[in-house]
Amino acid sequence: MDSFVLLKKTLPTFIEKLSDEYDVFAPTRKDNIFEYKLISKPSDINLDFVNSRLPPKSILLQQTETLFKFKPGRKGKILPKEISEDKKIIFAIRPCDAKSFSILDTVFDSDFKDPLYLSKRENSVLIGLSCNNPGVNCFCTSFGDSPTSSKFVDILFTDIGEKFFVETISDKGKKLVEKITDLFEKATEEDKNLKDSAEKEAIDTIKRNMKLEGVVEKLDEIFESQLWHSIAMKCIGCGTCTFLCPTCHCFDMQDEATLKEGARIRVWDSCMYSEYTMHASGHNPRPARMNRVRNRVYHKFSYFPKNSEYTACTGCGRCIEFCPVNIDIIDVIAKVREVKV
Ligand code: SF4
Ligand code: SF4
Repeated sequence: MDSFVLLKKTLPTFIEKLSDEYDVFAPTRKDNIFEYKLISKPSDINLDFVNSRLPPKSILLQQTETLFKFKPGRKGKILPKEISEDKKIIFAIRPCDAKSFSILDTVFDSDFKDPLYLSKRENSVLIGLSCNNPGVNCFCTSFGDSPTSSKFVDILFTDIGEKFFVETISDKGKKLVEKITDLFEKATEEDKNLKDSAEKEAIDTIKRNMKLEGVVEKLDEIFESQLWHSIAMKCIGCGTCTFLCPTCHCFDMQDEATLKEGARIRVWDSCMYSEYTMHASGHNPRPARMNRVRNRVYHKFSYFPKNSEYTACTGCGRCIEFCPVNIDIIDVIAKVREVKV
């Protein structure tokens, strides 16, 4: 790992240089909502944020995406989609959201490869921005991560006052910085100390904690618990928690067609909706809200850790912040641990 500094006043030049070769996605602000968008100029960027409302997963796993087109009818044919090789930068992605892509990789880069996701993933460079001021519901540290973690990014920026402390992590990140090395200066010991104290302060700011010890095993024992009914009594099934979650990846496929042409489209879906599991026969294996509330928790905290190295939660806190009835995933897991068996 190499360490540099970039003067904040040089950031616009840095972004302009990136834009020569890449589509640059970065946090932008509309009213009070931050969103990662394709920017056309450096001044579109607003870094005065804790995190975006929608996670940047929407850049690699689009909310609506055409999988292929087709000509219907007896002489119909499939018109495969050309896979884009456009190079992207996701600038100022938070470390927790960068981790979410590694979690999504276990789904889309498994025995079944999703070429649309993977081409975007391979052609993207993640430039992280440490969370100097985590939000009140952030809890990435519960998963052994940190608001200044460089583990899942190609380059990590940390705000140290007049400058950004810049660490190049992956080969992708190193190559990118090498191309515009004249914008950077070597980091000094003092810069490193400033970064270390920013890191310590950020970690100290995180007050929420999810205790995960024994949760996978406990969930094996409480599938029929009354707990799921009591959470479901409160949940209104709006799906907000899944749409805003950086690791949720349920989707539906729909055909949109006229008599002459059509397209198969992938759209985000939510396991919190009853239609999500509705079979063509009319049978629904998760007919009640209780089944769906329970599935959300089991998918993230039991099935995922049993099948991969990850729990399917990064501790971003979005579902806590925006659940309209204040269902709090940290409290849910605490209650799981309390259930007597
Ligand atoms: S479950 Fe909630 S806290 Fe965890 S990653 Fe998803 S939105 Fe963030
Ligand atoms: S956001 Fe809250 S109310 Fe809406 S589906 Fe999720 S848990 Fe239920």
